[in-house]
Amino acid sequence: MTATLIDGKAFAARLRERLAKEVAAMKARDITPGLAVVLVGEDPASQVYVRSKGKQTREIGMNSFEHRLPADTPETALLELVASLNADPAVNGILVQLPLPAHMDEAAVINAIDPDKDVDGFHILNVGRLATGQKAMVPCTPLGCLMLLRDQLGSLSGKRAVVIGRSNIVGKPMAQLLLRDSATVTIAHSRTTDLPDLCRQADIVIAAVGRAHFVKGDWLKPGATVIDVGINRTEDGLVGDVDFAAASQVAGAITPVPGGVGPMTIACLLANTLTATARSNGLPDPEGLTP
Ligand code: NDP
Repeated sequence: MTATLIDGKAFAARLRERLAKEVAAMKARDITPGLAVVLVGEDPASQVYVRSKGKQTREIGMNSFEHRLPADTPETALLELVASLNADPAVNGILVQLPLPAHMDEAAVINAIDPDKDVDGFHILNVGRLATGQKAMVPCTPLGCLMLLRDQLGSLSGKRAVVIGRSNIVGKPMAQLLLRDSATVTIAHSRTTDLPDLCRQADIVIAAVGRAHFVKGDWLKPGATVIDVGINRTEDGLVGDVDFAAASQVAGAITPVPGGVGPMTIACLLANTLTATARSNGLPDPEGLTP
């Protein structure tokens, strides 16, 4: 392996340590940040995520409020819960774990969250604020990728970036963040032609596809920085969207899976909760946690 390993796990641990200090400083001013997580149904992966979010929230000294509702909960009951969390001053951040059961309208539920408490950054107002360069809550996974990229590369200005994937959760907000940092951004998707050639021109490749080992080593420009967002469960365990063994011979720096982007996602959720708490109390944004 020639590439530098971008250690998201270690970065996330340092970030949580820093957040814990800031939470302690807020508590000294009688402010305790609180994150409410709502889980509807029994999806096993979602249960793992919610448990881990609650644990990490408490570990850094924030209040964690967990709400578990049965899968057949009517949408109106979920909307009532969201309204009560919007009105609760102890709750600074609200996260409704996705996916929701099929009978619910995800967009309607997300858009019912107070945008200032929308720590996932999925509310239509936050999407618009990010796209227009205003102060937004930024989706956690792309925010984590941005932090790793800035840490690795310093300025992203003028760099060529290819984002593979155009989901609302990862690809699109990732592209917005790169654009905001003055990278030259191409967004690729399932209808893109000549993807290997596009990638070969890129200084930065972000893979958010959901297909194991999709990005090959010979798609990369030597020295490129590769951020692998993919989480694919295979017979060999968890693997990313990038063929890590081959890519790490060509890339300049690369995130592993696991231990790369994954740990950054929850750390950035906590960072967003701190930012939301600061804003709702009229304090300045904590340094370096927002784009
Ligand atoms: P989606 O399924 O919503 O989006 C996948 C994207 O990949 C789509 O835009 C799709 O294109 C594109 N795509 C599919 N096939 C191809 C292809 N052959 N060539 C080019 N593009 C293709 O996934 P998400 O964005 O939600 O997640 C992506 C991956 O990231 C998943 O593995 C997911 O598990 C992981 N993930 C990891 C997180 C973390 O914390 N590390 C958090 C969130 C997601 P089209 O739009 O044309 O269909």
